[in-house]
Formats: sequence, C-alpha cells, structure tokens
Amino acid sequence: MRRPLVCGNWKLNGSIGRTGELIDAVSSGAASLPGVDIAVCPVFVHLPVACERAAGTALAVGVQDVSDQVGGAFTGEVAAAMVAEIGARFAIVGHSERRARHGETDGGVAAKFMAARASGVTPILCVGETLSERDAGETLAVVTRQLDAVLEAAGVTGFGDGAIAYEPVWAIGTGRTATPEQAQEVHAALRGRLAEQDPALAARARVVYGGSMKGANAAELMAMPDIDGGLIGGASLDAEEFLAIARAAAAA
Ligand code: PEP
Repeated sequence: MRRPLVCGNWKLNGSIGRTGELIDAVSSGAASLPGVDIAVCPVFVHLPVACERAAGTALAVGVQDVSDQVGGAFTGEVAAAMVAEIGARFAIVGHSERRARHGETDGGVAAKFMAARASGVTPILCVGETLSERDAGETLAVVTRQLDAVLEAAGVTGFGDGAIAYEPVWAIGTGRTATPEQAQEVHAALRGRLAEQDPALAARARVVYGGSMKGANAAELMAMPDIDGGLIGGASLDAEEFLAIARAAAAA
C-alpha cells in the first residue's frame, strides 16, 4: 500500500503575507490527514517563510524547480543543497511549463532529478504529452521516453524515493481533466516501465496525477489503482479546495 502524495504547485503566485496565511490554513487541515503526505511548493523567495510557518506541522514544503548544479558560475540557479538547508523536502522537476518555456530537455531534467536526490530532496518528475501527441497516438511513447531518461541516468538505485507526476499538457490549467481511465492507462504503463527495471521500485514508487484536479474530480481519479495522489496547480491556491483533494486521497 503506497502512501498518497498530494502536492500543491503554487507556480508564480503569492506574496509573503499570502504564503503565511495559506501555509497556516493548509497545515491545520493536514493535521487531521496523517495517512497522506501533503506538500506545497511556493516560489523560491517565499521558501524561508513557508518553511518557518510549516515547521513542526504535518505540511511539507517543496520547490518548483532545482538546478542540476551544486554551485559555481550558474547565474540565477538555486542548488538542491540550498533548498534542503532551508527545509524543502520535495522538488518538482521537468514541469511542462519549464520544458516549454525554458527548453528543458529529458537529459537536463534527469540531471535535476539526480541533483535533488543527492541532497536528500525527493524529486517529483513531471511527464506528459501535448494534445497533438495524444491525438497522434504517441502518449505512451512520450511519457516512457521522459521516464527512461531518468532511469538511464540515475539507475534503479538512483531513482530512490522519487515520485512521478503524470501531467497531460492539455489538462494543465485548462479545466479539462483526463478521465480516470485515460490517466490509469498511463499510470499503469509508467509503473510497468519501472517494473521492467525493478518490481520493488514499481511497487513503492508513487505515480500522481496532475491536470485540472479539484475537489470535485479527485475521488474518481484517486480510486484508480495506479493513481497515488496529485500534483495540483490552480486548486492548490485555495486551502479548502486543496484539502478536499487531500481528503479524497486519504479516503481512496
Ligand atoms: C500543474 O501545473 O502542475 C497543474 C497540475 O496545474 P492545474 O492543476 O492548474 O492544472
């Protein structure tokens, strides 16, 4: 039985004041959901206040990206050890917005995944197809290629406690959610790929869904055997909506 993971991706939103309020509201709700790992990922500059406010609560804090480098002449980047020192426990890597806007490649994402792991930060690897790739019947080939890049670079041991977020690009921020059956098909394929490498890894790795998940559709998605939680964008900016998703994960 895998412990569900429900992680909020706050993207480029918030302020110091709003971050504190949202952390307080989510952490008090998280206290009554001991069976779920609940995390939120604010922007880097709000990480210190988020970690301070979440300290000692059931809420974990993560980051939305991390450098593949440990330090040196890499202007604008933030290393995994630095966010770990502040208290971050998770790092989203390879989000489709970063793949599209910043030209992140499968190999580059794999390097970020390994950098996070090397600093004791749990990476959440985002994979997912565009609408044209889905329409062309390429969904499984795309997500498998994205996962394989990490498995090839990190190996089974290097994958460690990493999680995968299946996020169909066409469902992110669009209000259009994958059906539970569409999501389950991809989640099962991803787990199957892990199983080819190591059945124990496949059994323990959390594969969460992301893409317009909200309180109203979370339960049917979480009811699928290979959906172990969610990566939530828009709905994670509303504490009640986000906690409704976490409750659905707890009940699944
Ligand atoms: C995301 O960006 O990771 C995401 C899932 O966004 P949304 O929930 O808003 O679709």
